Amino acid sequence: MTDIIKNSIRAIHDYPKPGIVFRDITPLLANGEAFKATIEALVQRYQSKGLTKIVGIEARGFIFGTALAYALGIGFVPLRKPGKLPGKTIQQRYALEYGEDALEMHTDALDATDHVLIIDDLLATGGTVLAAVELMKHADVTVEECAFIIALNALPGAKRLQQASIPYYTLCEF
Ligand code: IMP
Repeated sequence: MTDIIKNSIRAIHDYPKPGIVFRDITPLLANGEAFKATIEALVQRYQSKGLTKIVGIEARGFIFGTALAYALGIGFVPLRKPGKLPGKTIQQRYALEYGEDALEMHTDALDATDHVLIIDDLLATGGTVLAAVELMKHADVTVEECAFIIALNALPGAKRLQQASIPYYTLCEF
């Protein structure tokens, strides 16, 4: 089943800058069979884990996260880039190769009774997902796992998650 998922991810060379190979999930989304296989694989893994919410990282984490939340019959919480959420938020900054970025969450989105899955399309350096995990700590939420469609093996994200004892799952690796 993961063959159809992996085979429908496209490599775009020199995007967003020279030397980078960007893994593009838009062909997977455009292929109904591949998108269904992706969500079904996630449903199979997470249907009996007692999750109360799916937490998705902007923007591609919203696509997989909302489909999964719908299939599991649980709610979805978006982690957004600064200034996008209308209510009171908490923010976590994280380092990029050059500069920094941040994720925000509504302060009333989750509480200590929640058991969540954090989801994004891709794990690279791990900076983004580790910021998401920090936000969960502020809200005293239990992170059951972090899920990605893709992990890039040449980058340290998986190792950083292992070192922080944060469980994670990926459907395919490049
Ligand atoms: P990290 O913080 O370095 O792990 O980067 C992961 C974040 O960058 C995720 O939110 C991804 O959506 C995005 N990202 C980085 N590289 C790629 C790529 O090759 N394809 C799609 N998204 C990427």
